Amino acid sequence: MIDRRKFLKKAVWFIPAVGVFRRLSKEAQAKPIAGGYDPKNHLYGMGIDIDKCIGCGRCMEACKTENNVPKEPFFYRTWVERYTIKKDGEVDVETIDPRHEKPLARTKETEVLRSFFVPKLCNQCEHPPCVQVCPVGATFSTEDGVVLVDSNRCIGCRYCIQACPYGARYLHPETETADKCTFCYHRIVKGLLPACVEVCPTQARIFGDLKSMASRLVRFKRINRLHVLKAHLNTEPKVEYANLDGEVR
Ligand code: SF4
Ligand code: SF4
Repeated sequence: MIDRRKFLKKAVWFIPAVGVFRRLSKEAQAKPIAGGYDPKNHLYGMGIDIDKCIGCGRCMEACKTENNVPKEPFFYRTWVERYTIKKDGEVDVETIDPRHEKPLARTKETEVLRSFFVPKLCNQCEHPPCVQVCPVGATFSTEDGVVLVDSNRCIGCRYCIQACPYGARYLHPETETADKCTFCYHRIVKGLLPACVEVCPTQARIFGDLKSMASRLVRFKRINRLHVLKAHLNTEPKVEYANLDGEVR
C-alpha cells in the first residue's frame, strides 16, 4: 500500500534557517508569454465529478510524462485516492498505483458501506498559503488564476510544502526545488487541455476558463452542486468537486 500522506509528513522534517530574503515584486515574477496570450482575459479552474472517476490512474501517468515528474511513487502532481467507508465507521484512504503493480488492500465486501475514487491535485487556491510563506517570492499567483513555482528562484527550503494543507507539493529530487501541478500551464496558454484532462476516459475531470461562457466548466458549475476540499481553511480552491462524499478530507 502506498501511504503518500505519511511520506509527505516525513519529507518536511528539514527546514533550514532562511535568513533575510527580499520578496520579489509581482512585476519581477511575471514572464512574457508568446503568441499574444493575455492572462488578464482568462481565469482557469477544474471540476471533478467523483461519480465518474473509475480509478484507472491514466491521469497520474499522463501527468508524470507531460511534466517530467519522477517515476517513483510518492512524487505526484496529481494523484487518485480510493476511499473505503466501512460499516463500522472506519475510513481507509489509499493512493492508487497507476501501474497497478501494488494492488489496493482488499476489504471484505460485507464490511464495505461504500467506496469511491477521489482525484486530487493542487487546488490553485485564490488565497494560497504556499505563496504567503515563500521567503523569496518563487511561488506566485498568475493573473489567470494559476499558482506557479519559478524554479530559478526556489531555494528548496520546503516552507511551501509544509504550508500547503492539501499535500499538493513535493521537492523534486533532481532540481531540489518545489514542484506541483500547474494545470499544465505550458499547454493551457496555447489553448490545449491539461494532460490529465485530455486522457481521462470518463471525463471525470473538467477543465475550463471561468471567463468564457462557452466553457464546459461554466456549465459544469451551473448544473452541479459543488464542494471544495477543506473549505473551512478559506483558501478558496479553484478545483471543485461534484458528488463529493462528506468523509473526504
Ligand atoms: Fe498552494 Fe497547496 Fe493551494 Fe496548491 S493547493 S495553491 S500548493 S496551498
Ligand atoms: Fe479517474 Fe479519469 Fe483519472 Fe481515470 S483518468 S483515475 S477516471 S480522473
